[in-house]
Amino acid sequence: MKREEALAIVRKQLKEQRYVHTVGVMETAIELAKLYGADVQKAELAAIFHDYAKFRTKEEMKRIIVEQQMPQDLLAYSPELWHAPVGAYLVQTEVGIQDEEILQAIRYHTSGRPNMTLLEKIVYIADYIEPNRSFPGVDEVRALAREHLDHALFRALQNTIQFLMDKREPIYPDTFHTYNDIAKKLK
Ligand code: GDP
Ligand code: FE
Ligand code: FE
Ligand code: FE
Repeated sequence: MKREEALAIVRKQLKEQRYVHTVGVMETAIELAKLYGADVQKAELAAIFHDYAKFRTKEEMKRIIVEQQMPQDLLAYSPELWHAPVGAYLVQTEVGIQDEEILQAIRYHTSGRPNMTLLEKIVYIADYIEPNRSFPGVDEVRALAREHLDHALFRALQNTIQFLMDKREPIYPDTFHTYNDIAKKLK
């Protein structure tokens, strides 16, 4: 699928600000894919569709998680986590993208997972550092992303977990599992 076609499809699903974010993720993912030797076209498509399900209702997302037998523990955690796996499903069924690597990058862009592929890491980090993001610590991860992808991933997870803990938010086990996986590998 061509970039313009993909962007037109996703634009209808998103509010303007989220669409601008998506274009930022796309540009950043392409840059990182070139830098680290990943498939640039897959990075582009995964980034364009990563937040496809962001504005679906909680009811619809919940129904899909149950009906499609996704990990049911998702339902015990923040609905913020749901658009990632539900997005992978809808991008496959509504848009018709069948490439499993792209779908996995969408599926794991919020929590991450142990043993992430290069493409999954690129989308996860591009989502975190795209130019429209501004929060404490983002510039450090931007710099790390151009030097060492796993260091950037580790810092982003560290920041996210710390941020959630400061808000007394429950943390989804996969988020911790991803953190632990990278922490062990960086030892
Ligand atoms: P976005 O869709 O571009 O805004 O970014 P993400 O998909 O990466 O994250 C969506 C939201 O999920 C963010 O507000 C994160 O802080 C939140 N989030 C990520 N991991 C967890 C988690 O383990 N638990 C909870 N409660 N929220 C999380
Ligand atoms: Fe997201
Ligand atoms: Fe993210
Ligand atoms: Fe996003």
